[in-house]
Amino acid sequence: MKKEDREFLHRLLESRTPTGFEMPGQKIWAEWMRAHAPHVECDAYGSTWARLPGKTGQVVMLEAHADEIGFIIKHIDDKGFLRLDRVGGSDAATARGRRLDILGDKGIVPGIIGNTAIHLRRDEHGTEKAPAVHDLWVDVGASNAADVAKLGIRVGHPAVYQDGPMELAHKRIVGRALDNRIGGYIIAQVMKRLAAGKRKPALTVVCLNAIQEEIGGHGAMMATYRLRPDICVCLDVTHATDTPGIDAAKFGSVKLGGGPTVCHGTCNHPLVVKQLIEVAREAKIPIQHESSSRFSGTDTDKIFHSRQGIPSALVSLPLRCMHSVVETAHLDDIAHTIELLTQFTLSLKTGDTFHQSLV
Ligand SMILES: [Zn+2]
Repeated sequence: MKKEDREFLHRLLESRTPTGFEMPGQKIWAEWMRAHAPHVECDAYGSTWARLPGKTGQVVMLEAHADEIGFIIKHIDDKGFLRLDRVGGSDAATARGRRLDILGDKGIVPGIIGNTAIHLRRDEHGTEKAPAVHDLWVDVGASNAADVAKLGIRVGHPAVYQDGPMELAHKRIVGRALDNRIGGYIIAQVMKRLAAGKRKPALTVVCLNAIQEEIGGHGAMMATYRLRPDICVCLDVTHATDTPGIDAAKFGSVKLGGGPTVCHGTCNHPLVVKQLIEVAREAKIPIQHESSSRFSGTDTDKIFHSRQGIPSALVSLPLRCMHSVVETAHLDDIAHTIELLTQFTLSLKTGDTFHQSLV
């Protein structure tokens, strides 16, 4: 990874963009994209896209979501403790004892999610359960509600964990919001390559960094309606199931470092998937396979049934420990995903529709 690219990735991973409050990260993404693509815009809610005109008006969209999970302040009590609600699938089981950044009116306010000492949590029978989210309490250093107000914090301000990116040995990257800031990074790298490459894509390429995926794909829906893509590849993360205690019979088998996954079934158009597999084989890019029996749980579910149906496919980056502060990805998987999306986009020809045929 080049220095410039690593810096961009780290800036994205250090930005704070809980669902519904994505603009700080979108501004970083847009600023970087403006250096590599001719048109960058956003919509009213902040979904942001870059467009590279092709030889035709036909549009292929590469999509990732920009938001991360987090918390929102639900209540402030008389003693100045904050109570939280979840934004997206935050895991209360790993929340106690963590450091938080609260995004208040006067800027970022640090806080901690309290962890009542083990000595004081009577558990003689070993039956202690993970806390419910409303059991969590946050200390920002206040002694009463007025102290909290002085810090510029009120009910409705969002918060994310402080944990930033870290690189482990053997090309692994760890962070808080790899889901799916790394997707925004990957589609940005694809745009950079396509815009600078000698071979130009035949189709117009739109890279969309959509808001509010973690609570139901809202940004992807709004932007897809507006942008009218003809073909779409979504990029998100998927569970790498190669850590201890995960049953492959239940959750499938995806390895960190084994290459991006292509998904089969439901929102995944068979002919788009087939072309992805062919492109991977020709370019010698390792891929893994996943199944979707009802829905994919990604923006693809919302994009593929926009208007009259948009031939779509989901490509995913294997990720360990999803929705934790130690989400772990492999740099080779990131590089292979960039390569797969770049080569797929270049493989599209004017007039490709992926329409099914009855004959
Ligand atoms: Zn995601």
